[in-house]
Amino acid sequence: VRARLGAIINARDTHVCVPLQGSGTFSVEAAVNTLVPRDGHLLVLINGAYGKRLARLAQMMGRRITQFETAEDVPTTAADVDGLLARDPSITHVGLIHCETSTGIENPLAAIAAVVAKHRRALIIDAMSSFGALPIDAQAIPFDALIAASGKCVEGPPGMGFVFARKSVLEKSEGRSSSLAMDLHDQWVYMEKTTQWRFTPPTHVLVALDAALAQYVEEGGQPARLARYRANCDALLTGLAELGLKSFLPPAIQAPIIVTVHAPRDPRFAFKDFYARVRDKGFVLYPGKLTQVETFRFGCIGAIGPDEMRSAVHAMRDALDEMGVR
Ligand SMILES: *Cc1c(COP(=O)(O)O)cnc(C)c1O
Repeated sequence: VRARLGAIINARDTHVCVPLQGSGTFSVEAAVNTLVPRDGHLLVLINGAYGKRLARLAQMMGRRITQFETAEDVPTTAADVDGLLARDPSITHVGLIHCETSTGIENPLAAIAAVVAKHRRALIIDAMSSFGALPIDAQAIPFDALIAASGKCVEGPPGMGFVFARKSVLEKSEGRSSSLAMDLHDQWVYMEKTTQWRFTPPTHVLVALDAALAQYVEEGGQPARLARYRANCDALLTGLAELGLKSFLPPAIQAPIIVTVHAPRDPRFAFKDFYARVRDKGFVLYPGKLTQVETFRFGCIGAIGPDEMRSAVHAMRDALDEMGVR
């Protein structure tokens, strides 16, 4: 499973895949706690809830952080990062959310990684909702850690995360973690030595993930998965436009992973009612995560195709009709 995961991002000998029990956040926390020295300084690039979560967990583990926040519909740019790193030489690490799942915005990973490398700082990438779908090449994009999980775009069950850590960096991180269970160095060394997990393994998740990865390869790997998600996203956006619903992000920065939509202005619209009606027709919507505007979200990922997206749009149209929403 580790080798198959590594092949997806061309990790080769530069990076090792260290799996960890738990949801994705556990692996983000483990990566920061193991790879950022206790006296390190992490610049966190934020344009949504997951960026805020990264900043919070790093701070809770006692790391010095600086937050750089843009609006939820504004990607961080390489120029932003260039300026921030030039002004503050004490920053040792940069934390980036590749696809910020709270809106679906795609941050420019390759350009930001190049700038971070130019300044000789280390990059930590939360690629939780992009790994497996958006192209990432570990030989072309310099990073110390990239974090993802068994669910989302590799379409396994949730329950296990994994960190691709630069081998030369991980080798030097012994004894740095302030947590035993989250110590990626210990996890890696033990696994290499014994071929066993340190603690009780998530057996069912692993077996199912193995099957999901076989299906991933059979489908045609990353390009095929991206093409299907893009077709899903296009079918959804077309259907939403027909319903008069407006998506939150402009197409240029919309990753085909998750789509945020403005709630209709009609006073007859109430999300709770709408949600229940659409659910009763077989589709579960994803509540919005924005504070300023009322939105809801759609996942374009999972073992579904454009037909399912169109059926979901029909269910929403029927629900809106029933509610008398124009
Ligand atoms: C899903 C996700 C996570 C992890 O969330 P968990 O609920 O802990 O699995 C982290 N970052 C991003 C960008 C995500 O989409």
